[in-house]
Amino acid sequence: MKRHTSTAYHEAGHAVIAISEGLSVWSISINGDGSGAVFYSPLRNLNLEWDGSNRTRIRVEKDVRVSLAGLIAERLHGGRHDPKWSAGDHNHAADMIYSITGSAEEANAYLKLLYIQTRQRLKLSWPKVESLARELIARHSLKRAEVKEIVGTA
Ligand SMILES: [Zn+2]
Repeated sequence: MKRHTSTAYHEAGHAVIAISEGLSVWSISINGDGSGAVFYSPLRNLNLEWDGSNRTRIRVEKDVRVSLAGLIAERLHGGRHDPKWSAGDHNHAADMIYSITGSAEEANAYLKLLYIQTRQRLKLSWPKVESLARELIARHSLKRAEVKEIVGTA
């Protein structure tokens, strides 16, 4: 039950930040085994080959904020956090940042900055995270139209 609640906040966090980054959330779900998933429009033409462009850097930043949002939402909710559930998200975020930075020092500082930005945005949108998490716990899965109805946009 506890795991279920943490997962709902985790997926709601990804969804709310994806929406705030201008992405479309297609569906969100939580499963009986404690796992969950959110499907959102992929970042178009994101090329991991670092081309030095601002365009690619901004896309990477958006993708990283969406990735970090699950873990941060769980922490803000205050549930006990089991890192194994967010390891994939964190590894993805780190890979993305490493692909556009020149050193581990820069990558670590950059990730920290994006983490802080994401936490601030989640705090500002916390009522939306709560509403989505509550509905996810009740319904187990939400489609785009339902997400739209709950948070006002999707
Ligand atoms: Zn996640």
